[in-house]
Amino acid sequence: MGGDPYVSLFCSGSLLIDPTALSPQYIPEELLHREEQCKQIASTLSPAVYGNAPYPLLLFGPAGTGKTVTIRRLLLTLENLCKERKVNSVLIGYIVASGRSISNLAALAASMRLRGVPRAGVSFEECWRIFNDLTGNKVVIAVLDEIDKMLVHEPESILLYYLLSRPNTSVVAISNQGEITGLIKDERIISRFNPKRVFFPEYTAPQLKDILKARAEKAFRPGAITDEMLGYCAAVAMASKGGDARYALDLLMVASEIAAKRGSCIDKTSIDEANEFLRSETIYRPLEELNRVEAAFLLAVAERGGSPSEILALANDYLLKTGREPVSNRTRARVLGGLAARGLVEYVHRGLGRGRGFVYDVVLNPRLSKSRVIAMLRQTWGFPEEE
Ligand code: ADP
Ligand code: MG
Repeated sequence: MGGDPYVSLFCSGSLLIDPTALSPQYIPEELLHREEQCKQIASTLSPAVYGNAPYPLLLFGPAGTGKTVTIRRLLLTLENLCKERKVNSVLIGYIVASGRSISNLAALAASMRLRGVPRAGVSFEECWRIFNDLTGNKVVIAVLDEIDKMLVHEPESILLYYLLSRPNTSVVAISNQGEITGLIKDERIISRFNPKRVFFPEYTAPQLKDILKARAEKAFRPGAITDEMLGYCAAVAMASKGGDARYALDLLMVASEIAAKRGSCIDKTSIDEANEFLRSETIYRPLEELNRVEAAFLLAVAERGGSPSEILALANDYLLKTGREPVSNRTRARVLGGLAARGLVEYVHRGLGRGRGFVYDVVLNPRLSKSRVIAMLRQTWGFPEEE
């Protein structure tokens, strides 16, 4: 039997039979270990099924705890219910809030399938007037995901103020930080926003395992991963990133790619390698978001390290050599503080001898490779080699 020579190409290699099941956009039919949160959110939003505006909500908890997937899943059910019951007076909008109020409002309108709200070129008030005409006296449920990022950008969010002032409007805010009131600079917003709070705790390792298992059953062909390895994957994810389901799912995905390349099932080695890969990728990520001044400081730290004033001198040297203005002492403190906050540099004590106190030296985070950081910065910013 010769058979079709290409069959084997389709049946070996990737362990995936449904890659969408591991994608970040995938919304599972059923959410595991979020029964309590689902109950609270659904009961709060339930007036919408009868055409009434629900009480506002704040979903909060660390990254990867299922806030986004939970609200998206519940909104699907809510939309279906409204359709079934012919409730036409409720408009539901979901956005990942970022940038300015005006573009967020345009995005919100678009997600409610309303046309004609411009995202730029007019004042916010004009934009709001158009939105208001289109929505009339309908109930609006506005889900603002990652609202903390929006507020960092715009602590006096005019969008939030207008939404909270509109009758028949429910704001569902989602934040990775517990207290968003601390991020809001407008008293009028604070006094108008008193949501019901729903907390999303980190998952435990056994819960992560259940989530991975449900996803693996959809995503992989049978036998691609054993129950024991699912437990191992959950434990490794837990040790690296805590109860973050996103990391655990990424780990499973990368491990499956590594295993497929070697033509094996997902085993300890592929999971460990995937973890190494993901961890190193995460610590280098902040490098991509630096500006030139920050990059010059980081290069100075990576090249030499030393006291903050030595770093400043060297960084200014790089800036001058690439045709930029040097920066002041005040900028120095802010920039080095920012680099430390992003885990790129660390401060270490240096004693000056008995009774003479101590100073700080700034060094590169020891988990980062010096040569890789130097190469990345030189390549991106064109800083010259040292003589
Ligand atoms: P958050 O918004 O809290 O940062 P997400 O909702 O984006 O977290 O969840 C991160 C990833 O983990 C997503 O891919 C999501 O589908 C998955 N996930 C989180 N919680 C669950 C759960 N309870 N059941 C199934 N998948 C989950
Ligand atoms: Mg989210």
